[in-house]
Amino acid sequence: MALMKFAPEALKNLFMKPATKMYPNEEPVYPEGSRGHVKISIDDCISCGMCVRACPNGALKVDRNAGTWTIDRFDCIACGYCVLKCPKKCLFMEKGYQVPGPEKKEDTYTKSPEVLAAEEEKRRIAAMKAAEAKAAMEAKASEEKKG
Ligand code: SF4
Ligand code: SF4
Repeated sequence: MALMKFAPEALKNLFMKPATKMYPNEEPVYPEGSRGHVKISIDDCISCGMCVRACPNGALKVDRNAGTWTIDRFDCIACGYCVLKCPKKCLFMEKGYQVPGPEKKEDTYTKSPEVLAAEEEKRRIAAMKAAEAKAAMEAKASEEKKG
């Protein structure tokens, strides 16, 4: 009786193609709606930290001075919230799974030397302008005191 019950399924499986994929020889096809994992176009990041504040799991770190963006992939739950919040749209979800690793470690991305140098120059000019504005204000205040 039980044999009769499973016979149609067994027959169907006999004529079906194997369900297994020939990975890595065949490109994997990810199911509709699979989230994948977070990636970054690091040179477009402005180190604003909005993704860090949005992450519900504390998986992200941003170091503005070093020009780095770091993700702890073991803490990331692939919710995609950081991607939604990034004002520069430099975060995105890439389909596919993480490469398995033997140890728990973070992934750190660093801006290119050209971008770091341009940011440093912007900071230098901003600091110079702020110092000039402060000096002008102090000079004006001192003039007003005298007068
Ligand atoms: S996908 Fe979600 S959990 Fe992962 S880093 Fe972004 S906000 Fe955090
Ligand atoms: S929100 Fe976007 S631009 Fe801001 S620090 Fe995160 S990745 Fe960079």
